[in-house]
Amino acid sequence: MLHIIISLDYEIFGRGAGDVKRHMIMPTERILNICEKHNAPLTIMFEACEYLKFEEFDDELLAWLGYSPAELIRGQVRNALRNGHDVQLHIHPQWIDAGFKAGKWDLNVPGRAINDLPEEMIYETLKKGKEKIVSIAKDIAPHYKCNTVRFTGSRWIEAPPGTHAALEKSGIKAHSLADYCPDENRKGYWPLGSKGKVWEVPIYSVELPKYRMFALTRIVPALYRYSVDRSPDFRKKARAAAVSSGHGFLAGLFRDTYKQKWDFCKQSAAEMVEFLEAGLRRYDHRNNEVPLVMIGHSKDFLSDREFERFLRITAKRYLPSGDVKFSTFQGFVEENMD
Ligand SMILES: [Zn+2]
Repeated sequence: MLHIIISLDYEIFGRGAGDVKRHMIMPTERILNICEKHNAPLTIMFEACEYLKFEEFDDELLAWLGYSPAELIRGQVRNALRNGHDVQLHIHPQWIDAGFKAGKWDLNVPGRAINDLPEEMIYETLKKGKEKIVSIAKDIAPHYKCNTVRFTGSRWIEAPPGTHAALEKSGIKAHSLADYCPDENRKGYWPLGSKGKVWEVPIYSVELPKYRMFALTRIVPALYRYSVDRSPDFRKKARAAAVSSGHGFLAGLFRDTYKQKWDFCKQSAAEMVEFLEAGLRRYDHRNNEVPLVMIGHSKDFLSDREFERFLRITAKRYLPSGDVKFSTFQGFVEENMD
């Protein structure tokens, strides 16, 4: 069976820009409605470090914004759980020591990666985040389990070795960030470290010619992000991604490849279906339970129509065969890794 896990990174912008109502609550509401229409559960990747800061600075934020971001987030997450969706852990370590002054977030090290922290602190961060989600979820979803995390860093890689002990100690069974999967691994996920108690469940990605990077469905969210975030490395990153190593720019577009993630905010319905087809060919889903993780970001969700079309096509064309189903991280991990 192929399990489609639709995961949503639920956060404002990495450097503290953006607005919780506009970039989290409102788009997530639209995503949840679309999912519910097609009986597809969503897995919200709850950014716990950021959320804890919203709680810590609740009075200041309320005075500044006229609403409490923490309260809105809590309400939305609880509603989602009530309607059968899943909520798992997402960690952006740059928020750990953030401050809020005069309407602005002050992030000391915006590019901080998880393994920049000492092991004890990684564990503490996981523990605090997990306790927070569980406290929000427990009376709504009595069988709720927080068993999956998505760290972040500058690259899309499996959980670094320095985090494995902390993951295990905190009872997290799966990490999901890598944008690759060893081809010989027909199950679509692999054990981390030698003990095999924690697993990497990658974000499903496909190697494509570079010109596919420049589809309108990808450029519009990128420009939108830039219009809000004004990140100084935006141009640097865009140039580094576009320029080819061996060939000139134009030749490189057709000869070079890059990894494209299965992203419901940056792909057309046709591209999402194309990826699903490729997944069915690539993995041995007849003999294995294979997770196919989709990613999206609430702040990137601009095209309701494409996402809805994808879910409609999937429900009509693929679910009846019994080869494909919609799953959540909690469910998939509990059934296959516990
Ligand atoms: Zn994130």
